[in-house]
Order: sequence, then structure tokens, then C-alpha cells
Amino acid sequence: MQVNIIIPLYNEELGFLTLIDRLNTVIDVCATSFTTSVILVDDGSHDDTGNLIRDLVSKDNRYAGVILSRNFGHQLALSAGLSYADATEAIMVMDGDLQDPPELLKDFYAKYKEGYDVVYAVRKKRKEAFYKRWAYSLFYKLLKKASNIEIPLDSGDFSLMSRKVVDHLVSMPEESRFIRGMRSWVGYKQVGIEYERSAREIGESKYSFGALLKLALNGIFNFSEYPIKFISNLGLITTLISGLYLAYILFEKLFLGTAPKGFAALVFLICLFGGVQLLAIGIIGEYIVRIFFQVKGRPNFIVKEFVKKND
Ligand code: UDP
Ligand code: MG
Repeated sequence: MQVNIIIPLYNEELGFLTLIDRLNTVIDVCATSFTTSVILVDDGSHDDTGNLIRDLVSKDNRYAGVILSRNFGHQLALSAGLSYADATEAIMVMDGDLQDPPELLKDFYAKYKEGYDVVYAVRKKRKEAFYKRWAYSLFYKLLKKASNIEIPLDSGDFSLMSRKVVDHLVSMPEESRFIRGMRSWVGYKQVGIEYERSAREIGESKYSFGALLKLALNGIFNFSEYPIKFISNLGLITTLISGLYLAYILFEKLFLGTAPKGFAALVFLICLFGGVQLLAIGIIGEYIVRIFFQVKGRPNFIVKEFVKKND
């Protein structure tokens, strides 16, 4: 088989059958040019998603299931799916809530055939609440400034990657995974195609605000030393300013004979630098926490079951 589709699912029983319907149509339409199989990853769902997967897999050999031992989060579920990819040509990853239209596979594949190793989808318009849109756009701008690698604006994980690129991703042992960043980092020929991302129709978003924030922080701290540079510069500037201030006080004392005054200013400065130092320690801590978890060398996810119909 030439193409895999990888889909992480977390409590998606409501939309499951619609998803499979759409996938079946796509697989049939594409069958003239290539064969496709789907790997569904159950990310520790509490609803019936796992059983729906097992049931489907037992009837249809185009589907396989990777059942994780608990909820590991979207990025790790995706990584688990990728490690089971067995397609010879390319692998598409998409969300299971049909916000990513599987019909794009044809266009993705056409670009792949033109010689691109990564074809990612770029959202033309976001049909989401304005504050979410605003937060996303702020994040991508910040990321672009802070990171050493070029992460394309407004592109998510929805993409098609060549076998080669997926092999590289799977071989990366990093613990806090930010797939779209790692995908950019790998390099090769990459191209974006525009699409309209629809709103989620069934069920609700499985990303809490906290999970989204964690993803955003991973994007920044895993791909850039900018925050550390920022603290160094801040330290440098404040040292310079205080040096100048000291020189000024000495000048006042020795030549003008006026004693320094200003208790309030002193309290303000102590508080300010107390705050700056805590912030700095926090930023360094972000890196240390990442080193801590990485150094433990635990597996990134645990697969409880791999299900596939024997043919
Ligand atoms: N997902 C997952 N594990 C999680 C959270 C989400 O596998 O812990 C899956 C979810 O089932 C969906 C995809 O990741 O297929 C994207 O999640 P969601 O649509 O909730 O995110 P959003 O589109 O709101 O960013
Ligand atoms: Mg979604």
C-alpha cells in the first residue's frame, strides 16, 4: 500500500461513523491512482471510540487501530500513529473531527508527485471565536520571531509527508513533541496549499486552554533559545543602567555635596528586580523541566494494543 492516513481520536464516538464514511469515499476515489490504509489511534478515550475502532478493524482490512494505554495527548497520539505507518510513499495526518477535510488527500498527493516531501495545509479562514483566532495569530507571529526554524504561518499538523520525512520524525527521541515544528525542522522540499477550515460539527474541542497553552510553550521553548537570550540582554541592560545610576550618585555626593534620597525609589527597585529575577528563573526553569523529562528516557507513549485484520 502506498499511502497511510493517521488519525488520533480522543472521545470521538459521536462523529466516528461520519468520519469513516468520508474516509471510505476518499479511499475509493483515490484507488485509481494509489492504495490507502488508515491507522486510527485511540488516545485513551473514555467513551466507545476504542470499541468502534476494534469493530471496524475486524471487518475492514484497510483500517488498523493503535490503542494507547491512557490519554497521552494529541501530539503523542499522532507520534504513536506515525510509528506504525507502513506506507511506501506518503503519510497523511489529520484530525478526527473532520475539521481537516480528508478530501484534500488527492491534492496533497498530486503535490507529492511533483516532488515535494511535505505538503501542509494552510488555513485560509478560521471559523472560530474571535478571541481564539486572535490568540492563534499572536502565537504564530511570536513563534516566527522566536524560533530558529521557519514554521509556516497558520498551518497545523494537517499535512502529507513522504516516507523519508516520517522516518526522520519517528527517529527523533524528543519528549515534548511539537509535530508541525519538527516537520519544518526536517527540511526537504515543503509546500503549503490553502484550504478552508470548517468549525467542529460534532462533539467539542478536546483541547482545553491549558493543553493549548502547553502546546504553544512547547513550540517556543523547544525550538528556540530566544527566551534565554532575552534574559541575558535584560540582565545586561539593567546592570548598565544601575552602573550609570551609581556613577551619578557618586558624582552628586563628591562634587555637589548632596546626599542621595528616595526611599520609595529604593522599594520600587527592589520589587522590580525581585520580579525580574523570578521571571528569569522561571524561564530557565522551562528549559530545565524539559531536560529533566528528556533525561528520564521514558517511552513517549505506551501502546496497549495494535489491532489489524489478518489478510
Ligand atoms: N485528540 C487526541 N488526544 C487529546 C486531544 C485531542 O487524540 O488529548 C484528538 C482529537 O480527537 C482530534 C484531534 O486530536 O481528532 C484534534 O483535537 P481537537 O479537535 O479537540 O482540537 P482543536 O481542533 O480544537 O484544536
Ligand atoms: Mg478540532
